Amino acid sequence: MTPAAIPGIVHDLFAHMPMVQRLSLAAIGVGALLLMVLERVIPYNKGQKFLREGFFDDFAMYTIAQNYVLSIVIFSIIIARVDTIGGFSRLQLIAHWPLAVQVAFFVVTHDLYIYWMHRWQHRNKYMWRLHEAHHSPTSVDWLSGSRSHLMEILINQTVEFAPIVLLGASPAVIPIKGAISAVWGMYIHANLNVRTGRLQWIINGPEMHRWHHAKGKGMGANFSTKLAIWDWMFGTAYLPIGQRAGNYGVRTWFPVHYFAQTLYAFRPFHRRASTGSVAPVDGALRPADPAGGDL
Ligand SMILES: [Zn+2]
Ligand SMILES: [Zn+2]
Repeated sequence: MTPAAIPGIVHDLFAHMPMVQRLSLAAIGVGALLLMVLERVIPYNKGQKFLREGFFDDFAMYTIAQNYVLSIVIFSIIIARVDTIGGFSRLQLIAHWPLAVQVAFFVVTHDLYIYWMHRWQHRNKYMWRLHEAHHSPTSVDWLSGSRSHLMEILINQTVEFAPIVLLGASPAVIPIKGAISAVWGMYIHANLNVRTGRLQWIINGPEMHRWHHAKGKGMGANFSTKLAIWDWMFGTAYLPIGQRAGNYGVRTWFPVHYFAQTLYAFRPFHRRASTGSVAPVDGALRPADPAGGDL
């Protein structure tokens, strides 16, 4: 393939794409551009660079390559196999629901699942291994949220998209839900100094999620992704007045490139010589500290 052939390949790709998929991709692109511009205009942490450490890996490896491969594994292998065996989608259980109701149903139910899954990842040392890559960026911005271990994405996106297919939802729900997740994910990580007031009780945003990426009390709180209401409801909200989050990342050493970051999740657990127990994991909640110790 020559570089001159790339525009033709891109054109063919889009030409065969349903309109709803094109619109969803356009929404993600426009959302990303808007956040990039707003980060320059109203930054939360001043002085954060656009091309910061890990930019290439977050963009090319996590956002493009990993997502591309995992979408094939999740849709064409796992979900397709389950549906072939069970024949669930043929029942068309929710096909008669209006499209907006289908989308709202999957956004809310998956978001509640993600809240508890995320909380568990901060409590359990094995689950933390799949989540620490997401906490490793030392600059939190529109792109850094894409840094998630492939096993974490494999589990969460299978849980996100399998019910949509298996319950017989409209095929349009997948790209719409995908765009909502992508844009909302970029927004909560964006380096934006937004003050949403009481809206932050319901809609999650950078105000709370940046605290979750800071080394300190916030890392043991603010587990919500899209709807902050879960944190307020279940007692894990952390939003100190008049202070600003900073000092992001994990406390222990973490590799800087994609393949090393991916493999690092499978390193052996370090045992304490005296007790034989496993040493506490950076960023993980201790059992006696369910809702946010000083981590
Ligand atoms: Zn987390
Ligand atoms: Zn995050």
